[in-house]
Formats: sequence, structure tokens, C-alpha cells
Amino acid sequence: MKVLLNEQQLKQGVDRLAAEISTAWGRRPMTMIGVLNGCIVFIADLIRRLEIPLRIELIQASSYRGQTTRGPLSLAGDRQLELVGRHVLLVDDILDTGHTLATLQNRFWKAGAASVRTAVLLRKVGCQQVQVAADFVGFELPDQFVVGYGLDYQDQLRNLPYLAAMEPGDFRPLSDGDPLIAEQERR
Ligand code: 5GP
Ligand code: MG
Repeated sequence: MKVLLNEQQLKQGVDRLAAEISTAWGRRPMTMIGVLNGCIVFIADLIRRLEIPLRIELIQASSYRGQTTRGPLSLAGDRQLELVGRHVLLVDDILDTGHTLATLQNRFWKAGAASVRTAVLLRKVGCQQVQVAADFVGFELPDQFVVGYGLDYQDQLRNLPYLAAMEPGDFRPLSDGDPLIAEQERR
């Protein structure tokens, strides 16, 4: 793996994003909706930098099936969302093809949200297949599979405090003793 963004760079990026969001949002109450599982680290860092009155909802969306290729998008936990008249900030880890964010934005508009905006930590340049606006973007990346700071490979590596790109030799089924996982203990 190759480190792309270290802890300090990530911190500066989230500081910058929080400042942008605060300026753009004003004092409207926010309903932040985080997309599990990848948003956990990002959202935890982001909310502590915002002074906007906010409530938090979490929904689960997954399109990867333990590997790095897309499957159908499956959603869980969005049935009871009360969004009528609410100003929504949808928070995801990474904007890749755009299917996840486009699908969710649609649902939130249909659920009666007054506005729906989107914040992502990362955006892969040149990978979008559907038109979707990301209003707040932390960092842009070329097309590569990244892990750490909440993002997984086979449900592992989310706890790396930095963001790393997988290298060709890294893609394999991970078992407990795998050196890639040992990386988490060595840091
Ligand atoms: P999209 O629907 O935009 O293609 O994909 C968005 C979702 O795919 C993200 O929320 C994330 O869960 C997953 N994803 C896309 N690219 C990557 C990547 O490079 N690494 C990891 N770990 N997940 C990714
Ligand atoms: Mg995700």
C-alpha cells in the first residue's frame, strides 16, 4: 500500500471542509445523513468541527461485495427517516461512479426534504457514470482503490489513521495473518 494522505493532511482537509460547510449553511438546522460503513471516521471528525445545530441519521448502503467491483446498491435503515421540510447534508466517504449519492439524493427529495446537499471526503476524478453534484469535496483523487480513514478492503483496514492506495499485489483474499492487516498493528 502507498500512503496518499497522512493524518495531518486529512485533518487539514476536514478543517477546510467544515469551514466551507459552515459558511455556506448559515444557521439553518441541519439533518446530516451519513452513509455507513465508510463514513464513520469522516463524520465523527466533521461533526466536531461544526457549530450548526444538527441531528444525525445513519443509513447503510453498500455496492461492493467484499471486493473492489460494484454490485447492485443495497440500502438499509432509511425507512423511518422524517425529512419533510428538513435541510439535509448527505455525507459519504467517496464519490466514485455517483450511483450511491444519486440514488440517495433522489430518495431524500421524494421524502420531502427542503434541500439536499452533499459532502464527500474524496472524489475520484473521471469515474462518474451518473450526474450528481457534490457540494463539498475534501480531496480529489485519480482512479484507484483506497483504504483507511473509514474505507475498507474486505471489511478490513478501516481503522488506518491515514488514507492509502492499494497496489496491484495487495488484492487477494485476506486472512488473519495477512501482512496487510499486520500493517494496522505496526503503525
Ligand atoms: P459509487 O456509488 O459512487 O460508485 O460508490 C460509492 C461507494 O463505493 C462509496 O461509498 C464507497 O463505499 C465505495 N467505494 C468507491 N470507491 C472506493 C475505494 O476506492 N475504496 C473503498 N474502500 N470504497 C470505495
Ligand atoms: Mg460507502
